[in-house]
Amino acid sequence: MTNTGTTPCVNCGHFISKNAQKCPKCSGECVSCLLCKQPIKTKEVYRPHGRNDGYAFHKNCLGFHFLIPPSVACPDCGVELSSTKLQGSLLKATDISCPDCGSPDPLGGRRVTCSCYACGCPVFTAFQTARKSYNHSSYYENCPSGPVTNYHPFHDFCLASYPGATPMPD
Ligand SMILES: [Zn+2]
Ligand SMILES: [Zn+2]
Ligand SMILES: [Zn+2]
Ligand SMILES: [Zn+2]
Repeated sequence: MTNTGTTPCVNCGHFISKNAQKCPKCSGECVSCLLCKQPIKTKEVYRPHGRNDGYAFHKNCLGFHFLIPPSVACPDCGVELSSTKLQGSLLKATDISCPDCGSPDPLGGRRVTCSCYACGCPVFTAFQTARKSYNHSSYYENCPSGPVTNYHPFHDFCLASYPGATPMPD
């Protein structure tokens, strides 16, 4: 007899409900990666800072998109940024200045106004593409200059897998 309503816990292998939010045996959380849709082991979870709404990623799935290509150099000193300590700390870094010369924004990341709506990380415009979705806009009615619609930015790789997002043309 097989129970189709259960699946092995990704952390301990105990059979748990496909709808379980937590494994009763090991207390591991049951979350799936937004990018690859596969369950995530607790130690591999990357949850964007400040998000507690079920959106999570494998560290590796997200980190792959944050590999600085060797062609990207600091605009001020010319150092290859992929070879500096900036690469290792990019996902969690609060300081994204050039480790070599201190140039404040060598990757073109706009940390406040241009964080991705899905993963919460900055969009580094030096090597990532920012996209917008029709379904994710904020409407501000009370602006002195009249109503304003602001579209939330996404990484292109996040937008493709974000539920309900409809990409806007470039
Ligand atoms: Zn478990
Ligand atoms: Zn994944
Ligand atoms: Zn530099
Ligand atoms: Zn993103």
